[in-house]
Amino acid sequence: MALIVQKYGGTSVGTLERIQAVADRVIRCKEAGDDIVVVLSAMSGETNRLLGLAQEIDENASEREKDVLVSTGEQVTIALLSIALQKKGCDAISMTGDQIRMHTDNAHGKARITDIDDHNIHAHLKDNKVVVIAGFQGRSPDNYITTLGRGGSDTTAVAIAAALKADECQIYTDVDGVYTTDPRVEPKARRLESITFEEMLEMASLGAKVLQIRAVEFAGKYNVPLRVLSSFTEGNGTLISYEGNKMESPVISGIAFNRDEASLTILGVPDKPSVAASILAPIGDANIDVDMIIQNSMGDNTADFTFTVHRNDYKRAKELLEETSSKLGAREVQGKDSLAKISIVGVGMMNHPGVAKTMFETLGDEGINMQLISTSEIKVSVVVDEKYLELAVRALHSAYNLEQ
Ligand code: ASP
Ligand code: MG
Repeated sequence: MALIVQKYGGTSVGTLERIQAVADRVIRCKEAGDDIVVVLSAMSGETNRLLGLAQEIDENASEREKDVLVSTGEQVTIALLSIALQKKGCDAISMTGDQIRMHTDNAHGKARITDIDDHNIHAHLKDNKVVVIAGFQGRSPDNYITTLGRGGSDTTAVAIAAALKADECQIYTDVDGVYTTDPRVEPKARRLESITFEEMLEMASLGAKVLQIRAVEFAGKYNVPLRVLSSFTEGNGTLISYEGNKMESPVISGIAFNRDEASLTILGVPDKPSVAASILAPIGDANIDVDMIIQNSMGDNTADFTFTVHRNDYKRAKELLEETSSKLGAREVQGKDSLAKISIVGVGMMNHPGVAKTMFETLGDEGINMQLISTSEIKVSVVVDEKYLELAVRALHSAYNLEQ
């Protein structure tokens, strides 16, 4: 007998028919002999609808009141699922974040979980009940309702699985797992049986559509095996754990990409200590995230310095860099805002030299110029012109045999 935490997202509980289908699935698992704790999101669209209502009254509505408002979405679905389970003859009880003592800090709208008192949940499981818990919500040290940030029910589910030492945390959504790349770009993309936490974090751009990245970090930290699967079809989904894909142990597990890249270069800055800091400090102060950073010493006591930012931040970052440029007496500022980043990801590359070579040859054969390159232990990223994104992803998918 296993203890399973199942989380169902907004589309999986979006209508009464869907809620009935979730009830049937929960009952099948329960009848197979497992203890089941369910964590739910609000019906799809509901959180946005509620936030819209608040905004109609006041665009700057208080975060505390917005938490009171949006947390109702999950309260609706947990009650409806419990009613559906009971009607089908399965003993169930719904619980709010407050009732399970989901303690958080008091950062309304983006609260962090500090502690869970699993005592209540265990008591109900002992009575052979399915416990249906509202995701996304907690309780602050002042006993106020808090929420965990958009998509936060995933984190609720993982936190509960960690607290209960559950055997697995299953995230039911509308896709049937994590894919080798985005199937809309490469139709030959394949569902992965399993993947490691590290790979999943590096593939954030693919995974983000599937589950909240904070939940993956949480699961890694507490070693909770996570499984992503569809509530609309049958299948094993994708297991995310420390074991990863031991059976197949591919060199590359997937190809992630990001369309919204921009790069900025400052040419001919004095090559001396703390120049990098003086270039990046104003960018950081403006809350602009910097991703890749590359510096080349030019041999004439100057250096060229390039970094990438999100495309939305490009204009502002360029203005700031131009100010820095005149202060430092640099030669010129250049920039490009129609770039894409493509990353090959896989723990297997640690033991396989030559992985980057295949990537560079493949892109070269397609006539695609790489503008920036960066590597980590389990990832190689390149920045290319956005117009080559699809071509590059497909060529790499085939070069690493990911369709098999
Ligand atoms: N209902 C919340 C949201 O839409 C939490 C969640 O679905 O995970 O962000
Ligand atoms: Mg979600």
